[in-house]
Amino acid sequence: MGRKKSKRKVRKNIKRIQVLPTVFDCPFCNHESSCDVKFDRKKQRAQILCRICSETYETDVNYLSEPIDVYNAWIDACEEANTN
Ligand SMILES: [Zn+2]
Repeated sequence: MGRKKSKRKVRKNIKRIQVLPTVFDCPFCNHESSCDVKFDRKKQRAQILCRICSETYETDVNYLSEPIDVYNAWIDACEEANTN
């Protein structure tokens, strides 16, 4: 009796939801997809960090905030800093 049971794993990970971007291009070193956003939901703070040039930015967030919002706030802050 040499029966082999082949187990096949069926992956049910195909969800067709829109994936929001969580990595972004860095406005400082211009590397693509080098900036990660980390949320601290308890403190309602978010930090974005470039792993190439180590530039960081922190901002307040709410439960509706998405990584793109943090990134946009960073870009706005950069532009403000540039115009002042
Ligand atoms: Zn950078």
